[in-house]
Amino acid sequence: MSSTLETQLLIIGGGPGGYIAGIRAGQLGVKTIVVEGVNPGGTCLNIGCIPSKALIHAAEEFAKATAYAAGTSPLGISVQAPALDLARTVAWKAGIVKKLTGGVAALLKKNGAQLVKGWATIVDGKTVDVAGAAEDGGTLRIRCEHLLIASGSVPVELPFLPFGGKVISSTEALSPTALPKRLIVVGGGYIGLELGTVYRKLGCEVTVVEAQDRILPAYDAELTKPVATHLEKSSVKLLTGHSVLGLADNGQLRVRDTNGTEIALDADQILVAVGRRPKTDGFNLESLQLDLAGKAIKIDDQCRTSMRNVWAIGDVAGEPMLAHRAMAQGELVAEIVSGRKRHFVPAAIPAVCFTDPEIVVVGLSPDEAKAQGIETKVALFPFAANGRAMSLESTDGFVRVVARSSDHRILGWQAVGVQVSELSIAFVQSIEMGATLEDIAGTIHPHPTLGEAVQEAALRALGHALHI
Ligand code: FAD
Ligand code: NAD
Repeated sequence: MSSTLETQLLIIGGGPGGYIAGIRAGQLGVKTIVVEGVNPGGTCLNIGCIPSKALIHAAEEFAKATAYAAGTSPLGISVQAPALDLARTVAWKAGIVKKLTGGVAALLKKNGAQLVKGWATIVDGKTVDVAGAAEDGGTLRIRCEHLLIASGSVPVELPFLPFGGKVISSTEALSPTALPKRLIVVGGGYIGLELGTVYRKLGCEVTVVEAQDRILPAYDAELTKPVATHLEKSSVKLLTGHSVLGLADNGQLRVRDTNGTEIALDADQILVAVGRRPKTDGFNLESLQLDLAGKAIKIDDQCRTSMRNVWAIGDVAGEPMLAHRAMAQGELVAEIVSGRKRHFVPAAIPAVCFTDPEIVVVGLSPDEAKAQGIETKVALFPFAANGRAMSLESTDGFVRVVARSSDHRILGWQAVGVQVSELSIAFVQSIEMGATLEDIAGTIHPHPTLGEAVQEAALRALGHALHI
């Protein structure tokens, strides 16, 4: 043992959960150490949210240029056939990641939290070892009053289709050195569809193999239909209701439909995106014998685990595995450790799928409200009747509101359409503030914006929409 540090709060993992906890704890004067084994920013900044959205933007721009080159744009724009310098695209994406991850390290420092680089191994609920992190290169032992586990998640690996060679995870898909001619995406969920769309827009032939009978099965069919239609229009092949069996000796991917019919698909690369699992192995976490909820660490509404002063947040604490949920939990734990009274009881956690078009889900869907026995008013306003959507050449999709019949309190919003990710803020604020249909209907929404569809959905639920 080379050296020992003492701290109040020790955080394992510098992703959105861990780094936000570190910043907030530092602001509140709690002596804090964040241990990160790879790079500050975690999955989200390095190999998740940010690089994927950068590539989605790059692919969108390339697709636009390709469409202009076809000479069919109703806008009257035409250009020469575009070319893609993939290395430059990937370097641009890496530049954004570098800027943001460097910013995280700087913010931790500015707020007085110490960042230790290295892999943490748990000794007990108050002690962690970090090999190679001592000044002399030996093991650094850190003792703490509070241990916060924010170790995140890793991609699920299919035992019959392990990662390696042409079988890749989202991490490799976000840093391509060359584009495959034919890409098969296994899993028609968030990652499969966001990244599958990127590869298609960059010119690859893309096939999505999804085990359920439709893509994005977690969302209702009305909401996902515009995405499925757009994928099909752009020649993405959707093999729903198909399970993967494995690779044949000739390198083809064997899949089977629900009737048992087997087919083999040619693929230069196979992106497996069938979910992520909490990262609970590889750092002696099991020695703490914490209660689990499935594969995740079980927590209460203060992010406490079953062991006193051991906390867990973010992906390691289960669904929904979203960066903003991890951040909110990180802030909360820091405040509780500093002596404040907090509980994690958000009225809703928004979810956004950055497909083309985008999908937003906040609060209860009509079916979820029904399943809870709530009588509702549900109304939908189509972007086909919205001037801003027309001017953006994208009239697919709609905004839908779900409100309680008895008092018109808004319980949920769903939207699908171009740039609807930016409407998610209005949705979640209205639910968090307990807004009614009348509150939204009576708010002046600027013209011309996609947001007018939000007001019109509320007006329609009240029976007097103006533009339909
Ligand atoms: P992570 O971000 O996974 O961070 C955990 C960190 O802990 C890692 O850096 C890891 O190296 C470190 N660590 C683990 N064990 C140890 C140890 N023993 N010692 C030291 N360090 C350790 N979410 C969204 O909300 N919006 C999106 O658009 C979005 N897009 C995504 C796209 C992709 C391709 C992927 C893969 C994920 C995406 N997500 C998105 C999910 C989001 O990335 C996660 O929900 C979020 O990163 C979880 O934060 P976290 O802090 O819990 O864990
Ligand atoms: P996912 O849960 O979104 O989708 C996985 C899909 O794979 C599901 O549709 C499932 O039915 C299908 N599937 C499972 N096993 C299969 C098999 N053997 N063959 C074919 N299909 C199979 O998971 P993901 O896309 O890997 O993403 C992981 C998590 O990362 C998400 O759940 C989300 O929490 C997070 N994420 C969020 C965003 C965002 O917020 N925009 C983007 C990417 C990832």
